[in-house]
Amino acid sequence: MKYEGRHRFFPITSATFVMAATGTVSLIGCATLLGWAMDVPVLRQISPRWNAMSIASAVCFLMSSFAVFLLQRSRAAPFRRIAACMLGSITGILGLISVTGYIFHLQTGNEMYLGAAPLLGPLLSMTSGMAVITGINFSLIGCALVLLGIGGGHSAGAGHLVMLPASVLAYLVFVGYVLDVRSLYDLLGIEVAFNTDIAFMILCAAVFMVRTDTWLMRYFAGDDVGGFMARRLLPALLGLPLLIGWLRIEGERTGLFTSEIGVALVAISYTLSFACLVWVTARSLHRTDLARRQAETFLRQSEERFRLLFQQAAVGIKRLDPQGRFLEVNDKLCSILGYSRDELLGLSVRDITHEDDFPLEWAEAMRLLAGEIPSYSIEKRCVRKDGSIIWSRVTSSRPLDSGEAAEWWISIFEDITQRRQAEEEARRTATELIRSNRDLEQFAYVASHDLQEPLRAVAGFMGILRNRCWNGADAEARDFIKLSIEGAERMQTLINDLLTFSRAGSRMGNFAPLYMKDALDAALKNLLVAIEENGVIVTADTLPTITADASQMTQLLQNLISNAIKFRRRERPDIHISARRGEGRWIFSIRDNGIGIENQYFERIFMIFQRLHSRSEYGGNGIGLAVCKRIVERHNGAIWVESKPGEGSIFYFSIPDKGGGE
Ligand code: ADP
Repeated sequence: MKYEGRHRFFPITSATFVMAATGTVSLIGCATLLGWAMDVPVLRQISPRWNAMSIASAVCFLMSSFAVFLLQRSRAAPFRRIAACMLGSITGILGLISVTGYIFHLQTGNEMYLGAAPLLGPLLSMTSGMAVITGINFSLIGCALVLLGIGGGHSAGAGHLVMLPASVLAYLVFVGYVLDVRSLYDLLGIEVAFNTDIAFMILCAAVFMVRTDTWLMRYFAGDDVGGFMARRLLPALLGLPLLIGWLRIEGERTGLFTSEIGVALVAISYTLSFACLVWVTARSLHRTDLARRQAETFLRQSEERFRLLFQQAAVGIKRLDPQGRFLEVNDKLCSILGYSRDELLGLSVRDITHEDDFPLEWAEAMRLLAGEIPSYSIEKRCVRKDGSIIWSRVTSSRPLDSGEAAEWWISIFEDITQRRQAEEEARRTATELIRSNRDLEQFAYVASHDLQEPLRAVAGFMGILRNRCWNGADAEARDFIKLSIEGAERMQTLINDLLTFSRAGSRMGNFAPLYMKDALDAALKNLLVAIEENGVIVTADTLPTITADASQMTQLLQNLISNAIKFRRRERPDIHISARRGEGRWIFSIRDNGIGIENQYFERIFMIFQRLHSRSEYGGNGIGLAVCKRIVERHNGAIWVESKPGEGSIFYFSIPDKGGGE
């Protein structure tokens, strides 16, 4: 058992008691010395009828109480124990000198025969006035203090053994005083002073309390029923007979009752008080027992709950020893791994773990068992009984109060094979998607680029045809020529748009910090003619710096602003650009007072070649917003619109803080 020295002795801890007791004894010693020095009798003797404490006794009390104080945290500091041993030895030697003096009739308690023993004389003068019982007690206490100071369990036990006669003597003297039986406190004609005896009793209690782990004190200090009962009964056993005896003697002395009645009363009092004590003890035992039984029931229920959880858990659970062998496994684990319970109990972590993943798990388990980490969680491959491989997520932890080396640990085992397969599948699909997207972009680019050449030839020859044959052609042929030229031009525009669109997605990213005001200025510069022609009012709030592709941002703003100008109503176009912070992104908005859009078209307008109006109403190919969407998506952002027909539209796009990137 680890010695703590802080057992709780109702209502205070043993350490506090020792502090208070040694303080009180020192105070009594100091008061006595002061009483002698200043000649104040009340300080050295409680009543003029009784003897006074001798100077030697007061000094011994001071030394021994200080020794007890030092021993209070004895295990920590060896120098304290050495000092306590020295103080104990001096106290014991002084006590022995005094006793020796009495044995050889060299000392009577009040005067010394200095001439009788020239060598012993000066020594005996030091213990002058010490009663013989006091001398015996100091010898015993001194010896006990030395034994306690040595510190080991056995010597401390021996120290407490030595304290037993000292305590009995102190108690006898106390009984003598209380019952006024002089022979109990007066040996060889020298009384033990009453204050000396009080100090002895307190000191004895302190010496016992200073080590609560000895064979004697263990049962008093324990947190069990035994300790509880002992602490409760001992004061009653020490005090009750004394009280009853005192009452009887006082009753007889004052003539309240005769000796026979006194004996009868004592018998009755004993019976009654012990009956009470037995009742109180029985009640306490009953309560303790009840609490214990309740605790046991609670424990059983909690175990039952745990067992149910363990057995019926939807995940595998295993308890393992420090070598990784299975101590307990639940049904789910058996079914995941395909083993029977008995088969699994003969296996260890190594047997079920894929050999490539075992070192990783075992390194973590070692750290866990060494107390370096409270738990770990890893994903590893396991081998089932039939040899198939499954993926598992293992979360292990060790008991919280298991000190440095845990004797067991517990692992939760989840089968995550399906999730891993789904993840693998998703990864494959994503790679495939990226590849096919690239192919498509490449295709669109190559197709539109290569289409331009023959188209240019067709348009060129149609032009030549028109120049040469225009005059000779009839009206129908002229119509055909005109329509062919227009068709070729339109196709050229479409191919150009397609090229722009495919470039918006395939251009290598050139992401850098960009002050959006610069991009806006560039866009407005490109739109200068349209702005002036239409008398457009463009206003903007403060714009932030973001990480983006500068030319694409310019194109984005340009497309949105040109749409706002194009889809105007009768009044002057009024366009406002602003930006606000969203969660981890900037949200830009371009607000106009144009014709607006019905909300059923909010999605469609961002698709390529999708338009809401005929070309005769508003020019365009339906590519502008599709390009905007591509640009924003390349920046990992989003684009959307809010609008009311006849009132105007607000186009929003968001750009993440960290900028875009493919
Ligand atoms: P285009 O401008 O070439 O028609 P866009 O892709 O730029 O193609 O726009 C798609 C459609 O969205 C437009 O035809 C128009 O009907 C609608 N639209 C775009 N911007 C606005 C706007 N600011 N106000 C009203 N309608 C708009």
